[in-house]
Amino acid sequence: MLAILHPNTALDSDAYRQTMHYLENLPGVSLRVHEIQGASQRLTEVYLLGDTKTLDKEEIEALPAVERAIRISDDYRILGRHKDDNRQSGFTYNGVEFSQNNLNIFAGLCAVDVPEHVEQMMQALEDAGEVCTRMGAYKPRTNPYSFQGHGKGCLPWVFEKAGKHGIKVVAMEITHESHIEEIDTCLEKLGRPTGVMLQVGTRNTQNFELLKAIGRQTTYPVLLKRGFGITLNESLNAAEYLASEGNANVIFCLRGMKTEAGQPHRNMVDFAHVPAVKRLTRMPVCVDPSHSVGSRDRAPDGILDVMHATAQGVIAGANMVLVDFHPKPEKALVDGPQALLMNELPAYLEDIRLCHDTWKKRQAIYQRLKDNTAE
Ligand code: PEP
Ligand code: MN
Repeated sequence: MLAILHPNTALDSDAYRQTMHYLENLPGVSLRVHEIQGASQRLTEVYLLGDTKTLDKEEIEALPAVERAIRISDDYRILGRHKDDNRQSGFTYNGVEFSQNNLNIFAGLCAVDVPEHVEQMMQALEDAGEVCTRMGAYKPRTNPYSFQGHGKGCLPWVFEKAGKHGIKVVAMEITHESHIEEIDTCLEKLGRPTGVMLQVGTRNTQNFELLKAIGRQTTYPVLLKRGFGITLNESLNAAEYLASEGNANVIFCLRGMKTEAGQPHRNMVDFAHVPAVKRLTRMPVCVDPSHSVGSRDRAPDGILDVMHATAQGVIAGANMVLVDFHPKPEKALVDGPQALLMNELPAYLEDIRLCHDTWKKRQAIYQRLKDNTAE
């Protein structure tokens, strides 16, 4: 059972105290309190865990601080969408809104290499009015002898450049919990010129200790990649690990599934699952067309497969695009062959906007159908 308190309920109010006193004394029930800071209000949600089958929903709703109660299913308790659950999704981080209704684009380098390339990338983003990017500093590589990323050494200049170009959020994969502190210490030292979204890579989706460590902090939101060889249910449970530890600011990223049947693409593109993840959970959903498609192959219509895959995800309602660009792909240290080029950025952004607008128009078509059927 989930008790949602009235917005902005003060934690030192009588209503809050009385409500918590009642809930804390329910036999066999333990509580987990979640605070959600939205743009205009603070929401407190109290999860009642354990022996809740016999609890009476009306009785909980009668408590002074409770706005309403929802009976939640066992799966994805915090991030899931339950019956009669029309709670808003998403969060605001460093001035950027993330929800199941909007769209943010994270174009950037798969791996940070030299300052000149980072500079060119961020300048192009600033020129295009974009405020988010991706920059890999810690790279999990299949081959132990491959470049593993510059690690903490590159953080100061990457974050400084981000600040200089008005970048508000940098998606950055971490592969060990010590990287959270490296990032935090660096940002703090620089006076927080930008923000970071911690990325969990597909190889770490079920690294439960890493998930718990990331979930224990709420300074940074999380981008969780779907595991490339496990079921969707298993990946969604991995996201729930983050929330169960206290951090529900999670975006779920589809990035293709590993199978020989996916060829000619690097992975089987799974963007038809965008609406499914939005139905099962309240997480904003990201698509990563670069790691799904993995090449710069072009269809006879003149459009790259990466762009076609992006369009498929966005037209189906994706809320974020994570995509590799590089000013000189032939010099990239990781994933050069799948990178888009700087001069392709404006057209690509225009294509994405077109698809996002089309998704909104598609929604309107089916809303009209629903309204007409109801009459
Ligand atoms: C990446 O985004 O750089 C990456 C390594 O992706 P994935 O974990 O999906 O392979
Ligand atoms: Mn990559």
